[in-house]
Amino acid sequence: MPPFLHRTKVVATIGPASSSPEVLRQLIEAGMSVARLNFSHGSYEDHARTVKLIRAVSDELDVPITLLQDLQGPKIRVGQLPQGEITLHKGSRLTLIPIDHFAEQPDTVPIDYPFLAEEAQPGTRVLLDDGLLELTVSAIEAPAVLCQIVRGGVLKSRKGVNLPSLNLRLPSLTDKDKQDLDFGLAQGVDWVSLSFVRHPEDIRALKALLAEKGATVPVMAKIEKPQAVAQLDAILDECDGVMVARGDLGVEVNPEKVPILQKRIIRACNERGLPVITATQMLDSMIRNPRPTRAEASDVANAIFDGTDAVMLSGESAVGEFPVQAVEMLVRIAVEVEQILEFPNLPPAEIDATHALSEAINTIDQIMDLRCIAAFTTTGYTARFAAAERPRAPLIALTPDLAVYRQMNLYWGVMPMLLNQPASSIEGIIEQIEACLRQHHLASAGDAILILGGTPMQKARGTNFLKIHTLPSEP
Ligand code: ATP
Ligand code: MG
Ligand code: MG
Repeated sequence: MPPFLHRTKVVATIGPASSSPEVLRQLIEAGMSVARLNFSHGSYEDHARTVKLIRAVSDELDVPITLLQDLQGPKIRVGQLPQGEITLHKGSRLTLIPIDHFAEQPDTVPIDYPFLAEEAQPGTRVLLDDGLLELTVSAIEAPAVLCQIVRGGVLKSRKGVNLPSLNLRLPSLTDKDKQDLDFGLAQGVDWVSLSFVRHPEDIRALKALLAEKGATVPVMAKIEKPQAVAQLDAILDECDGVMVARGDLGVEVNPEKVPILQKRIIRACNERGLPVITATQMLDSMIRNPRPTRAEASDVANAIFDGTDAVMLSGESAVGEFPVQAVEMLVRIAVEVEQILEFPNLPPAEIDATHALSEAINTIDQIMDLRCIAAFTTTGYTARFAAAERPRAPLIALTPDLAVYRQMNLYWGVMPMLLNQPASSIEGIIEQIEACLRQHHLASAGDAILILGGTPMQKARGTNFLKIHTLPSEP
């Protein structure tokens, strides 16, 4: 177990640059808590191998690693390009054609959306690769769509396609997503995120599917559509976590809108105690350079000031030249910022026993010099609401449940610990907490710790006790 260094969680997307045993080990040692597997890319074989390696290294180092399965959702992508990439020149023409009709021809690109010719019109804007490249439709010759290149550059296979003005004829959960989900569940993923959520029903549908399969994996909504922003509260009512997916969000709405949306979404999550990840381009230039730009360092810092639980790497860790250095840089920025971080004491969304306890945790954390806060939790709920208070004292969350142990590793400042037996009484919990803290050198005799939990034990959302406890001398 590494020392308790940083409290902002680090999510890293795993790809060709980071799937070797050596790099995975270095990412974990550098401070990665969550490994994101993007099911828009990579084969099942690749993902299965990555999962196995991560579980092995995580066990060996005794560091919990959360596996986040990112489902593609209704995202349109460029198909496989015959040369792997194609250079687009401003002012030239480009033909888009559905994958099923594609045959290699100059200046022609396959698209995995069969209805493009039916829905596009002359003048429709087509954005590629998170908006880096831009086309305008000039004519329709079904099934082909002829375009003019407005903003050129290098286009690679499988890059995203955004058509902000069209209402896409795609279900929120595609057949591919359903297949990928089955695969992910069989691999034992800890969280599932859904791309391009438009309505709260999208989350409900995914949850219903999970329930059908008997899975209890929490669901994260990726906020990257204007429709999702418009229904944010209703979506937050349904999901267990949120990702501010700035790549596509910045294409679907304009980039200048993203900073304010980021603040709004993070604040709404903080108020509800929902974990939130800030994602995309955080250290983008580190794909090629060992040091970030000052603007990127500031962006990471500001997301933490905004109240994000986690910061995420995409291309930096998936395909970049410096994946480990990028994680190290996120950690260094987090450590720096957290020294002066102050959170507003947000008014609780609802007043109940849990929120009364939260207020008490806050007060005790402020006026006492606690060695740590030890949250005993069977569902992760106690850990989640304690994390939402952003306490000064280290927050250790103890659970006998392996799935919960991994799920709560995404919450801000939560250090998960796995107990090897379920407890049946408050005395039993306290005994187990004492033993665990001593064993991991997280507290010693005479230290004040704040213990929280619920009794009876198995009740969901049943947090109802706080105990200020002084660790006795070794028995
Ligand atoms: P999303 O909208 O879900 O973020 P994305 O295409 O932007 O999708 P990222 O996860 O942000 O993908 O990763 C950035 C880039 O890294 C991708 O465009 C892709 O080129 C590459 N990449 C990511 N994961 C993999 C993988 N498993 N295998 C190969 N390349 C990958
Ligand atoms: Mg991305
Ligand atoms: Mg996206």
